[in-house]
Amino acid sequence: MLTIDGSFGEGGGQILRTSLALSAITGTPVRIEQIRAKRPKPGLQRQHLVAVQAAARVCNGQLEGAALGSREITLHPQQPVAGDYRFAIGSAGSASLVLQTVLPVLLRADGPSRVEISGGTHNPLAPPFEFLRDAFLPRLAEIGAQVELRLVRHGFYPAGGGTIIAQIQPLAQAKSLDLRERGRFVSRRAEAWVANLPIAIAEREMRTVQSKLRWSADDCHARVVESCDGPGNVVIVTVAHQRVTEVTSAFGAVRVPAEDVARRAAQEMRRWLEAEAPVGEHLADQLLLPLAIAAGGAFRTVRPSEHLTTNAAVIARFLGERVTLRELCPDDWLVGVAPDPG
Ligand code: AMP
Repeated sequence: MLTIDGSFGEGGGQILRTSLALSAITGTPVRIEQIRAKRPKPGLQRQHLVAVQAAARVCNGQLEGAALGSREITLHPQQPVAGDYRFAIGSAGSASLVLQTVLPVLLRADGPSRVEISGGTHNPLAPPFEFLRDAFLPRLAEIGAQVELRLVRHGFYPAGGGTIIAQIQPLAQAKSLDLRERGRFVSRRAEAWVANLPIAIAEREMRTVQSKLRWSADDCHARVVESCDGPGNVVIVTVAHQRVTEVTSAFGAVRVPAEDVARRAAQEMRRWLEAEAPVGEHLADQLLLPLAIAAGGAFRTVRPSEHLTTNAAVIARFLGERVTLRELCPDDWLVGVAPDPG
């Protein structure tokens, strides 16, 4: 039995998710203590509880301590099992983060799986659907992981009510990832979505992105979500290069001017455009686990976040030291992930 201290490093939900996934993949029982100790509301919130239960389902595992607010859980896994799964978060908790938990496990299952998750599809502090579709999954396809993701219905915080469906093929011929260059520029696009809010908000956001990034009106689109519980607003900025696509996002909130929301997404994209490393902060931490359970790889990224170093530390606990970080220049790091020897 491995014991993981949920309060180390970044001290949030990611230690929990990575530990659960690796426990299920390796068949190693795990006890996770001090869950989300560094968050304002520690312990399992609904989204984390569903992630815990989902991880147990996809490996036929037994759970102890899985309840709302719980700060300690134990998972006794068996092995990854393909299937047709439905997970309902029942709040606006992030469906993407529940997918982040079960996806690596089902890549190592004995057949194709279908996973339907309802909850939030567009949440602050989590990958929005577009990030998974355009930034994350194409890189997974390169390592041999075929995953199709569909947005059935938008779900914004706080109302939720969204649904995503993933079709996951087990990893057959894993290939190593080499992502040290961006390749040439291919396309760019900004979109502002509004749900149950005036379209003028999205139009103001797109004017702000246009002026901040000096993009043309043809690059920027104001869009309406046709059917959605509750209000919602997100700005999504996407730049595709031959080898990588970056997606930045920002969410509207009560009493935050639309211009400020758009400026945040645009500034984050500007930082990526001005840097040279192909892999942005969020993609970097999300790539580690898929690479570590497949054929490894190397990528250049911006200064490693605490999410990345914490994920590397959890991977080391289950699989041994597999991740190396080397600073090339202040905002340009080389991350190496050794392949899974199994
Ligand atoms: P945690 O804070 O531990 O719950 O983990 C949050 C996860 O969501 C990490 O994998 C982050 O990289 C990811 N994440 C947070 N914000 C974004 C964003 N704007 N775009 C993409 N991924 C994100």
